[in-house]
Amino acid sequence: MSVIREENVTNPTPFKVTPMPADYEYWTNTEIKVRVPTAGWLVNNNNIISGPEPAVAVTGRIAVRNPDGYDDTGDNELIIQFAQFNSVFNLGSGNQSFPRKLIDRSGNGGYYLVFDPSFNDVHPQNIPDAKQDVIDAFCEWNAETAAKLEIVENCPTGSICFKVSGEVLPNLPNGTVVLAAGGSNPSGTSCTGETVIVLVSLKFNTSQDWITSSVQNPLPNENIIKNTAYHEVAHMLQLGHVYNEGSLMHPMYENDQIIDVDAIAGGTHVSNVSANTACANPLQQGLIASCMNPATEK
Ligand SMILES: [Zn+2]
Repeated sequence: MSVIREENVTNPTPFKVTPMPADYEYWTNTEIKVRVPTAGWLVNNNNIISGPEPAVAVTGRIAVRNPDGYDDTGDNELIIQFAQFNSVFNLGSGNQSFPRKLIDRSGNGGYYLVFDPSFNDVHPQNIPDAKQDVIDAFCEWNAETAAKLEIVENCPTGSICFKVSGEVLPNLPNGTVVLAAGGSNPSGTSCTGETVIVLVSLKFNTSQDWITSSVQNPLPNENIIKNTAYHEVAHMLQLGHVYNEGSLMHPMYENDQIIDVDAIAGGTHVSNVSANTACANPLQQGLIASCMNPATEK
């Protein structure tokens, strides 16, 4: 989880540090508990700092702060459900963060996505197989979690459809290349007392070298569309990054990454809480028809 940070409320100028591994008191498939750290990485900086350095939290409240501004705080320690984006829309006890939930935005129990014409620029040498790689990744996630994120060829009349697109994505400020970006944006308005996902998106960086999963022995600079999609779909399912190297949700891409057990546990957790939410339009779990009957036309 990359967004756990601490703030020192006694410091008039808020600062944030990222906890060290030892500050995670436990870490299960569905829950993380973190304490106020005595050492940490300064945000946007790789320097490790430790108390009594004034920039270390040591005491005070912990904050979970997401890039979109939702946050949550707790005294001395904080329990976070999985490596999942959280919000404090439902204030609750104040030391428990709340998972965002998937809802039915397509009218078919989940979310529809269509390929934007710009996706053709991702791998113009073989557009049908490039699309099939993305479709296969979505279908595998659906089979694992029953959460309906479905790619359709044409957006059904009257439905809300989101896009799988290709565009030039800028590097991060530290120079890290961004291969792709999977997003899911929340809104607090659709279900009483809960934060729900109202928008999903998936973008591939057209300035990178892409290959399809059928290619044997890829070169180091070649990135497999399907394996990248595994990671990005997880972001759409509200999973964040983890420290564990080799995990699907580690931020650095590997061509051999798979939908691993931790990611499945997290995605299933999100799917289950979404389907069981007291909401007018909850996610409806189930297999996607187009995945059960693969298209013969490619
Ligand atoms: Zn990521």
